[in-house]
Amino acid sequence: MNATSNTGAMTPIFPGSKDAAGCKATLGVMGGGQLGRMFVHAAQRLGYFTAVLDPDAQSPAGLVSHHHIQTDYNDPAGLAQLADLCQAITTEFENVPAQALQTLAQTRPVAPGAAVVGIAQDRIEEKDHFAACADISGVTCAPYAVIETPAQLQAVLEERADLLPGILKTARMGYDGKGQVRVRTASELAAAWAELGGVACVLEKMLPLTAECSVLVARGWGGQVVSFAPQRNVHVEGILAVTHAYEGNMPLALATSARDAAIAIAQHLGYVGVLCVEFFVVDNGSAHGGLVVNEMAPRPHNSGHYTLDACDASQFDLQVHAMAGLPLPQPRQHSPAIMLNLLGDVWFDASGQQREPDWHSVLSLPGTHLHLYGKLDARVGRKMGHLTITGPDVASVKTVARRVAELLGLPGLDAI
Ligand code: ATP
Ligand code: MG
Repeated sequence: MNATSNTGAMTPIFPGSKDAAGCKATLGVMGGGQLGRMFVHAAQRLGYFTAVLDPDAQSPAGLVSHHHIQTDYNDPAGLAQLADLCQAITTEFENVPAQALQTLAQTRPVAPGAAVVGIAQDRIEEKDHFAACADISGVTCAPYAVIETPAQLQAVLEERADLLPGILKTARMGYDGKGQVRVRTASELAAAWAELGGVACVLEKMLPLTAECSVLVARGWGGQVVSFAPQRNVHVEGILAVTHAYEGNMPLALATSARDAAIAIAQHLGYVGVLCVEFFVVDNGSAHGGLVVNEMAPRPHNSGHYTLDACDASQFDLQVHAMAGLPLPQPRQHSPAIMLNLLGDVWFDASGQQREPDWHSVLSLPGTHLHLYGKLDARVGRKMGHLTITGPDVASVKTVARRVAELLGLPGLDAI
């Protein structure tokens, strides 16, 4: 299966160049969240103009872009304007309507393409893809069953007791643990499916995880692939809290398998752009031991934010290079790093009163890199920013990261 026609060379769009009408090279992004903002920063640093399509007048990327088209993602006039302004277009969130990407692709290079984004939007199609390339990736996903109809629910209730305890996940629109219910028994499963509105779901067996990791791969139009070393991730309540990015963050054999698997998955999709593949590490003594592929994000990923401060090219730089047809040099990490996510919770004290976090103390520590996304309102659970800590060695990075987590009252302190 080759899910996209995004293969073959393309004429590079050089930064600072002008087209026949005298317009400066402009890169576009669907979505104006923090990933779009960091993409815009990377593109602008190289000398590109940027355009963001996002209906929100205050979107983090829209606020810093040369052009901000404030329409719905499906709006024909908005899409036409984006295509008109830009020489190539990408997306910053996987729930962008695949149809909109298809429309844009009629006149402009779009990376990643609508077909691969469509696969990543649907857990059922995503798992089919993982199964289709298991021979070359060497990994499978957690045991699961598809539940789209009452009859399928009934069959799972009767025949798949092996999947319990499990996690019922909506096939579409899930993120940060949303659209997921943990179920222990058949009756909990039936109630959970009803609670999720009887929409298409997968029931996944709950695996005894010893760790989680992810790999960022960038693939160009001509098939060239580069990748970052796997980062180890710690989630708290379904949301990424801590990323460990340094040599020795996980056993070398596992890291090698994860990197090889992510590259195989990207190749098999004929992917163009930055892809993040998330993995579970399961106790080798258990029935499903080793590396298990969880899901993929067709874009730069929260777990790759450390690359901005700890590598000679960030995940956003590589997204720019890949979509614009520029060379894709292998990135090199120059410092060990730990990334701490900053949720809106940090802006509230124990009594629920809003407060400004103690940035003075945090920023007086060595190697702290604060990134705030320009969101105007802090809300509990909302991703407001992140902090990357770099240093000369892993021990000093951990010491500073622990201190930062204490100062700000961050979750996951015991996992640093
Ligand atoms: P993301 O924000 O990464 O898009 P998501 O909402 O798509 O998250 P998943 O990655 O499927 O959700 O799950 C969120 C977290 O829940 C995982 O990182 C893991 O900690 C836990 N989890 C999910 N599936 C399983 C499983 N089968 N066994 C054990 N833990 C799981
Ligand atoms: Mg996930």
